[in-house]
Amino acid sequence: MKVYKDNNQSNGESYLVSRQTKPDDTVINVNGIKIGGKEIVIIAGPCAVESRKQLLETAKVVYSGGANILRGGAFKPRTSPYSFQGLGEEGLKYLSEARNETGLPIVTEVMDTRKMELVCKYTDIIQIGSRSMHNFPLLKEAGKCNKPVLFKRGLMGTIDEYLLAAEYILNEGNNQVILCERGIRTFETSTRNTLDLSAIPILKRRTHLPVIVDPSHATGHNWIVPAMAKAAIAAGADGIMIEVHHKPLDALSDGPQSLYPDNFAQLVKDVEKIAIAVGRSIYHNIQSPA
Ligand code: PEP
Ligand code: MN
Repeated sequence: MKVYKDNNQSNGESYLVSRQTKPDDTVINVNGIKIGGKEIVIIAGPCAVESRKQLLETAKVVYSGGANILRGGAFKPRTSPYSFQGLGEEGLKYLSEARNETGLPIVTEVMDTRKMELVCKYTDIIQIGSRSMHNFPLLKEAGKCNKPVLFKRGLMGTIDEYLLAAEYILNEGNNQVILCERGIRTFETSTRNTLDLSAIPILKRRTHLPVIVDPSHATGHNWIVPAMAKAAIAAGADGIMIEVHHKPLDALSDGPQSLYPDNFAQLVKDVEKIAIAVGRSIYHNIQSPA
């Protein structure tokens, strides 16, 4: 499709994130998994790494359900300082053990510049969370790392602000950035946030970066997640990130939005049908779990 100058957008066309600067799609290769190519990539796992047992069990069920990349937070940005904050380095160790067991690459959040080196030591993809979208020192540090960055849109960030924030990462020399729409805050209270589906075609048009969608944080309810995951793929997303827990009722964070293992496996099957309908396919893991 011809890319033309969009005069409605305030973003200059000379930015590093812009399609005018780089017309071809950026495809990010994570241990052979290509994010931003023809195949839809599925990231799944618990909100937080809670224990070795919980993580390994969830990792196995997401692997067998069709996930390509394992997610799990070791440092959690909780609304209340009294809520479970994550296991820190212990959690990173369990993530790396789960990677060894399943073969799935891992993605985990870094919240603090002082932990960047530590998180990079363990993870395959660095996650920058919604609350950190405006943490420019953190973005610059991520830009200096030699790891792909899954960069989430701030819950109050406009698309222009989001792209300028992404520019901070690219400007430091790291162009391996995966954009992630995860819902924005609106007046609506039936969902945790409002999934901005329009952001998908807008980001795909204005940037060359892969775009994924997190319907878990966008909706806050596990029963809405499958519908929004399918909508995201239909709208042109390159992947989805889904929270799954082997026992959602026992989860220490985000249980209500976490899918049960069998719902996740069904979701992957349904997403595959949508992917095919829009001329794409889903990435199938080659390696068997150990
Ligand atoms: C997460 O994905 O673990 C998370 C905390 O999401 P967000 O930053 O989008 O709230
Ligand atoms: Mn969560």
